[in-house]
Amino acid sequence: MPRPAKLSLAHLPTPLWRSDALDRLVGLELWVKRDDMTGGAEAGNKVRKLEYLLAAANAEDATHVVTCGGEQSNHARATALMAARLGLACTVLLRVDDPGRKPEDRANLLLCRLAGAEVVFISPAQWQDRAALLALHAERVRAAGGRPYVIPEGGSNGLGSLGYVDAMQEVREQLDLGLAHSREPFDAVVVACGSGGTAAGIALGADEYRVTSTVIAVAVCNDTAYFERAIGSIALAASALRPELEGCANVVVLDAYKGPGYAVASAQQRAYIKQVAAQTGLVLDPVYTGKALFGLASLETKPKRALFVHTGGLPGLLAQPETFSSH
Ligand SMILES: *Cc1c(COP(=O)(O)O)cnc(C)c1O
Repeated sequence: MPRPAKLSLAHLPTPLWRSDALDRLVGLELWVKRDDMTGGAEAGNKVRKLEYLLAAANAEDATHVVTCGGEQSNHARATALMAARLGLACTVLLRVDDPGRKPEDRANLLLCRLAGAEVVFISPAQWQDRAALLALHAERVRAAGGRPYVIPEGGSNGLGSLGYVDAMQEVREQLDLGLAHSREPFDAVVVACGSGGTAAGIALGADEYRVTSTVIAVAVCNDTAYFERAIGSIALAASALRPELEGCANVVVLDAYKGPGYAVASAQQRAYIKQVAAQTGLVLDPVYTGKALFGLASLETKPKRALFVHTGGLPGLLAQPETFSSH
């Protein structure tokens, strides 16, 4: 079986980074996989998934990609920018509390607009039925003579998650080069979890390339039962595309660090983000990476030596300056 096609869109390999100050703030030997540096404005974990998803769109001769996400979706931003780069039209369905009140064009939403994407606001109720809505918009594209390619939320399906199988191969090469002191596998790989595709790819790839036997997925929405199911089914779909991937690392989903709500960080989490930035220069975001690293630092029993996959999300921070102001 041939391997699924892949475009080269990301700036790779991303660095492995560590600092004494960060080790102290987290309480263990922490290596950071800088996937916040997979590119320019499109940077973050979604670029690795889009290398596969947009290759499939090209193979189908698509003219238009259709996807969905939250109001400040990093995935929608990355998709809109990468679609523009490839000359594809793009429609993004974004979930907002009240579609009657249009949010300001800032941060991720501004970048979607700059990329020329069509932005459609949908309600939380419509979001529940997003698969049908994506299909409806695809039909609309077809009726207008275009050829749509639909990408699910977060780019999280079997195909997209292969980007993180490859990321673990990249980490194995870095370990073998001695870039993380020891060549031994990490005690754990830690990542924020929003739709599950990244964690699923990491779990498959970490086993295949001996990067770790434990993946800690820190949920930023939903709960442990939901993500155990979601990650399991994405990993199953991915291994159907890469049948040589037989094993899977153990995935521990933590749902105690979601904070007050999706995209809302607690005061303690925001203080931690500020502390990390001020003492290390590493910038986390309040939606994903800040909650994930805060979760790791809060664990009673911590791994000794871990890899934190920094999945990006800087625009998510820049979208909510008021929550960080000290006034
Ligand atoms: C999308 C996203 C995640 C979560 O990845 P999933 O594959 O959706 O679980 C984590 N961090 C950032 C910054 C993201 O944009």
